Amino acid sequence: MNKTILQKYLLIDGKNIPALARRTTTLINPATSETLAIVAEGGAEDVDAAVQSAHRAFREGPWRKLNSRERTRLLLRLATLIREHVDELALLESQNVGKPISDARDEVGTVANCFEYYAGAINKTGGSTIPVAAPGVSLTFREPIGVCGLILPWNYPLLLTSWKVAPALAMGNTVVVKPAETTPLTALRLGELALEVGVPAGVLNIVPGKGSIAGEALVRHPLVRKISFTGSTEIGSHVMRLAADDIKRVTLELGGKSANIVFADANLERALPSAASSLLGNAGQDCCARSRLLVERSIYDKFVEQLTEHFQKVKLGDPLDEKTEMGPLISMSNRQRVQSYIDVGQQEGASLLCGGKAPEVEPLAKGAYLNPTLFGNVRPEMKIAQEEIFGPMLVAIPFDAEADAVAIANNSLYGLSGSIWTRDIERALRVARAVETGVLSINSGSSVHLEAPFGGVKHSGMGRELGMAVLDHYSELKSVFIHTGN
Ligand code: NAD
Repeated sequence: MNKTILQKYLLIDGKNIPALARRTTTLINPATSETLAIVAEGGAEDVDAAVQSAHRAFREGPWRKLNSRERTRLLLRLATLIREHVDELALLESQNVGKPISDARDEVGTVANCFEYYAGAINKTGGSTIPVAAPGVSLTFREPIGVCGLILPWNYPLLLTSWKVAPALAMGNTVVVKPAETTPLTALRLGELALEVGVPAGVLNIVPGKGSIAGEALVRHPLVRKISFTGSTEIGSHVMRLAADDIKRVTLELGGKSANIVFADANLERALPSAASSLLGNAGQDCCARSRLLVERSIYDKFVEQLTEHFQKVKLGDPLDEKTEMGPLISMSNRQRVQSYIDVGQQEGASLLCGGKAPEVEPLAKGAYLNPTLFGNVRPEMKIAQEEIFGPMLVAIPFDAEADAVAIANNSLYGLSGSIWTRDIERALRVARAVETGVLSINSGSSVHLEAPFGGVKHSGMGRELGMAVLDHYSELKSVFIHTGN
């Protein structure tokens, strides 16, 4: 066997072990179509072992009972170790997902920041005393929930894992992580680093495997008290139904079709590159991608013409090349799915302004690359303006008045992210309040910040990640009344 092919195992109860059924998954580097790694593929029996281990660690282990300063120190040490392994983790992520190495490095930095943030939150959250109508006082305690099942997608494997693991552990829970079947490498490494800094065995278990088998087993497991799921709306809705049988707590971070609204008075020098980057980042495989561009009609033609030129100049290339701006998609099959939407767009009568094809020259022809694609003349009700495409394909829609822009933005099942570009602050705030979405940015493409709550409305999900808000989703408030007499 080729020596460069990694072999990875499940991480259960502090040990790297093969799957009980000895199944494996072969991971493909999407930039080269070569085999990258062979990873143990967990089944229901492996998930059971991981949940039992997490349950023991929760009930018997020291984790939830550690004093807050000790838990803080362990998470801070983990953040430091992540920083020390930035190159290794970024390389794994880049080769596994196809993302440009500079983006992968930034993501690993954010992962370390995330552990630091929640390490710092541990001794700043607690309960309260409540003046009840009785002779005594009521206290609330913030208690951990128990074993949390954390289910991840493939687009930001380590980053999104940290968004769940850090607050879950900070609140004293133990966890079983089910990474996406195709991108488990960095989560497995995170689990090893956590052991290295002294997080006790069983607190953080990682079980790669198929969603329909390992994912489903995690959601169905009676000892799992909470599921935090990030992925498609279709699977999220299924997960919620399954969790209902057992009254499990559920938070869902799902798909999006976010609007980028550009008014004629905007600073177009900033709005234009942002319209490109907020769609093409991670090759468009981003739940927050601003995949619907709404432009005021008076500037629509010029804006779209300049954006077309911008799209044509984006540098596709080897994800390991520092100069690469956009890498391949995650897989040939995702590229095929996106290409099917390009056909749909043409059938629906939208104008293909650029892209639409895979590069044919070597070495890009070997990978799952797709040229940045822009459609003009799009009507809001078209399928390409309604469905999440999850690739480098943008649809541009003109609008006439502020109310039209809001109506088009809200004509969507989704409500995750979005941006508004205007110099009129009153209008910016009016529109920001009127758009049905969980997060939004004004005169910026950046709407996700570690310190601020993140999440969706409508079919984009329920509950919040990040900020202090997520801590409510990883803890239960317990009320205790103490009788004092009058
Ligand atoms: P997916 O829904 O196919 O899979 C997500 C995870 O669920 C994977 O780990 C998968 O193995 C698991 N899964 C699949 N079937 C399951 C089942 N029956 N029971 C339990 N788990 C199961 O999504 P994906 O293709 O990995 O990711 C892309 C989607 O994720 C897009 O829709 C994107 O918008 C969404 N996403 C949302 C956010 C957010 O924060 N809102 C972030 C990233 C991605």
